[in-house]
Amino acid sequence: MSAERGNGGGPAAMEKMQQIVGRARAAFRSGRSRPLEFRIQQLKALERMVQEKEKEILAALKADLNKCGHNAYSHEILGVLGELALTMEKLPSWAAPQPVKKNLLTMRDEAYIGYEPLGVVLVIGAWNYPFVLVMQPLIGAIAAGNAVVVKPSEVSENTARLVAELLPQYLDKDLYAVVTGGVPETTELLTQRFDHILYTGNTAVGKIVMAAAAKHLTPVTLELGGKSPCYIDKDCDLAVACRRITWGKYMNCGQTCIAPDYILCDPSIQGKVVENIKATLKEFYGEDVKSSPDYERIINQRHFRRVKSLLDGQKIAHGGETDEASCFIAPTILTDVSPESKVMEEEIFGPVLPIVPVRSVEEAIEFINLREKPLALYVFSNNKQLIKRVISETSSGGVTGNDVIMHFFLSTLPFGGVGHSGMGAYHGRHSFETFSHRRACLIKDLKMESANKMRYPPGSQKKVDWAKFFLLKRFNKARIGLFVLALLGLVAAVMIKSHQSVLKRKALLVVLAVQRLGWPSGW
Ligand code: NAD
Repeated sequence: MSAERGNGGGPAAMEKMQQIVGRARAAFRSGRSRPLEFRIQQLKALERMVQEKEKEILAALKADLNKCGHNAYSHEILGVLGELALTMEKLPSWAAPQPVKKNLLTMRDEAYIGYEPLGVVLVIGAWNYPFVLVMQPLIGAIAAGNAVVVKPSEVSENTARLVAELLPQYLDKDLYAVVTGGVPETTELLTQRFDHILYTGNTAVGKIVMAAAAKHLTPVTLELGGKSPCYIDKDCDLAVACRRITWGKYMNCGQTCIAPDYILCDPSIQGKVVENIKATLKEFYGEDVKSSPDYERIINQRHFRRVKSLLDGQKIAHGGETDEASCFIAPTILTDVSPESKVMEEEIFGPVLPIVPVRSVEEAIEFINLREKPLALYVFSNNKQLIKRVISETSSGGVTGNDVIMHFFLSTLPFGGVGHSGMGAYHGRHSFETFSHRRACLIKDLKMESANKMRYPPGSQKKVDWAKFFLLKRFNKARIGLFVLALLGLVAAVMIKSHQSVLKRKALLVVLAVQRLGWPSGW
């Protein structure tokens, strides 16, 4: 893996990016990223890197986001190690050709989905979980046999620098490259042709990435954000619900793409929700949140000012303290928030939790459906049917009932958005599939040509009737089994009884047809 820093825009930067992508493409064309043993060996090297450089990774996360060791470990390193272990174990079965059901006309043939690498993949990361957000897609892209260019976020500069320094020490230098830098470098990089781009970040830049990709017809996976709603039903264990919500909302200082952005609940329980969250905050962070090792900081002063400005004119039920020098914003709860207020316009991405009163589940559903489709949706209730109803009458990238965030951690579930919260998905097998082409493979032999007559010219009504019979008719298995048994019986009887050569030939033809064409799919 090689690490490069572009030098802003201009022809020199363009040439530099061309070289990086050109090198990755030449390495991909050499074919060495394809064998499964090579992919697993690279994944093992990544695992070794994470284990050997754990201290350095934790230090970079502390410097970027004030993440204490155990939070950084469980938020970022654990997920990467888990993804690596799963991928190395399952890769042989994921990558194996997947046989598919055949129809009558292909019964004797080999038909399967073959997974092949796409080529050179670009992974653009965001700053809020700066390590895991580049490593998880990288794992999937390597597993699928691609060359990869990684672009970590310049906002989390310590982690970006470390990723650029470490990866070349462990991985193939030409196949896998790291580009550091900001908007000019990313802009130059995006003029290059890639075979897939996975971008994580805000929706506005997502549109820029997609427009750049469209010039080369490059497919994209966009992992974007948005306002993820959280509905709390009146019939609910509020203490448990609020503890789970507090954990998901204030983790990483609210800078989590799938954090519950706001609460919808009946006005009659709003006060109790506030009290329960307050009690949980005390339980989690103590009396003085500022000195709690478990409470992070806002990434930089630009974001600090943005989040702080959302408090203007709001009814602060708890929190609201800020300190610009250390980018500290206390866990904050806003009550009786108007849907028209600024805090309800855009994703908050900070430790501010507005409560918007709604009078019924119908009103909550309508509220959600009038806005862009969120990345995540949460609903708390003792009533499973109500949870299912909210799920079936809304749309979102993912959903968790009676908890928050947790669908992210189940790697058998695809992680991604829908509409303005993104497109495509990854994690576990879904990553492997995202970075693979599912190739339709059908291998026939050159015998039995007579069976193909039906599709060759000249056409006739008889041929159409046969084609309709073989391709369109749907029978249930039991009925078709009886039918064929009866047919075979008839043919056998005819063969035994008749010595006339013409009849014999006809019977043989029927037997052959049944043998060769087998069953249509779905019977
Ligand atoms: P960011 O500022 O780190 O930007 C992300 C990447 O885009 C960076 O690598 C940056 O260099 C690049 N970039 C920025 N501006 C660009 C431009 N004009 N042209 C080309 N590239 C550009 O991160 P951010 O956007 O502030 O991230 C926060 C957002 O990301 C939130 O909306 C959050 O919800 C979302 N997010 C989503 C996920 C997910 O998995 N769906 C995960 C994390 C964050």
